[in-house]
Amino acid sequence: MRNAVATSMEKIVSLCKRRGFIFPSSEIYGGLGSTWDYGPLGVELKNNVKAAWWKAVVHERDDMVGLDASILMHPKTWEASGHTSNFNDIVVECKKCNKRFREDHLIKGKCPQCGGTEFTEGRAFNLMFKTQVGAVADESSIIYLRPETAQGIFVNFKNVLDATHRKLPFGIAQIGKSFRNEVTPGNFTFRMREFEQMEIEYFTTPKDAAACYERWINERFSWYTSLGIRKENLQQRPHASDELAHYAKGCTDIEYQFPFGWSELEGIANRSDYDLKQHAKFSGVDLQYQDPVTTEKFFPHVIEPSGGVDRATLAFLVDAYDEEEVEGRQRVVLRLSKPLAPIKVAVLPLIKKNEPLVALAKNLKKDLQKEFTCVYDDTAAIGKLYRRQDEIGTFYCVTVDVQSLEDKQVTVRERDTMRQERVPVDNVQRYLEDKLNKNL
Ligand code: ATP
Repeated sequence: MRNAVATSMEKIVSLCKRRGFIFPSSEIYGGLGSTWDYGPLGVELKNNVKAAWWKAVVHERDDMVGLDASILMHPKTWEASGHTSNFNDIVVECKKCNKRFREDHLIKGKCPQCGGTEFTEGRAFNLMFKTQVGAVADESSIIYLRPETAQGIFVNFKNVLDATHRKLPFGIAQIGKSFRNEVTPGNFTFRMREFEQMEIEYFTTPKDAAACYERWINERFSWYTSLGIRKENLQQRPHASDELAHYAKGCTDIEYQFPFGWSELEGIANRSDYDLKQHAKFSGVDLQYQDPVTTEKFFPHVIEPSGGVDRATLAFLVDAYDEEEVEGRQRVVLRLSKPLAPIKVAVLPLIKKNEPLVALAKNLKKDLQKEFTCVYDDTAAIGKLYRRQDEIGTFYCVTVDVQSLEDKQVTVRERDTMRQERVPVDNVQRYLEDKLNKNL
């Protein structure tokens, strides 16, 4: 059923613009480098990705709760976490084309732009965006846009513990915007300066940390495949010891095979007890956990699965893109999984000048949209309407024709097989509920 199409980024970027998934930000002013806006279909897709993550990591588990912390945080947060002094990229400038790059983004010692081999001395460049709070602009008013959501979880550890009386192990999940002044952004929404993260901090005992780490790597890998990413396009990459932060006991990236190569979708880190210890030290607040049985106090160890909403969304788009030949014509079909498809059902009247037919189609859409995301489209011939829906991943097309007025049946066409079935109008909702709720 599925062709192994080697999708190019150009095809994905063009489809996203043409059909309203993703637009360049502030495009009428020439755009702003590496910022992107999600259009009508993109916002549905991205919301579906976030909802699927939240369902899997919060609602379907007994050991997780959610949080939504502020983007702006007390500046001491970033001293404690090490971001003020260490969240740097080493930047070099190519002496031939004068472009600046992250030293670790050079390709075998060569400039990715012009192939030059001579560079200026590497300089540390802090990735945090600085801004000011209040009306007085001096050193004391400087704060940062958060470069990760994780610290919002650590600073709320005690609040959540006190409010929920959780016992270890338990985790806190959060989705939200993060900002990094990336030196070399690019590859569409893969590397942006403003992006969304989905992060979990999972608190456990020192004894169980290693086993929890392994479990989370497997669970997070399976999440991507359960939503349709092909296994052969995903891999786990354990970090070498010289890539690890001094406090980390392990880190594994889940990588996707993008058209531009294997790249990180999510990192799962075993962070020891570093984070809570640091915040306890800088805030003076006791962030230790007291074991209810032994009464022993200690800093919980942390496993951190940290993924990007935009990178996951891009990977789902790339993996779903397919082209096939049908009756001598090329069909582009986005084989998104049921939970992710932005539109589940399209209602298409075959003739738009037949009043009773249009009324039947509109009423049907009105009923179905209470249950599923639906569109109504009568702006082209049926072949073209099907192609449009295939291209955006719509699961079912329901066509209303003249015959429908007599036999009270409509044609339901399935996206992947293109199989068509006549279904009584009164049964369509139940028929689609049955089909769409399966494997949701
Ligand atoms: P990279 O090495 O690609 O810069 P990272 O290791 O710095 O990424 P983390 O700090 O581990 O990334 O962030 C966790 C996740 O947040 C990443 O796996 C990615 O999905 C997402 N992410 C990080 N930076 C960006 C960005 N600039 N644009 C989009 N998503 C990002």
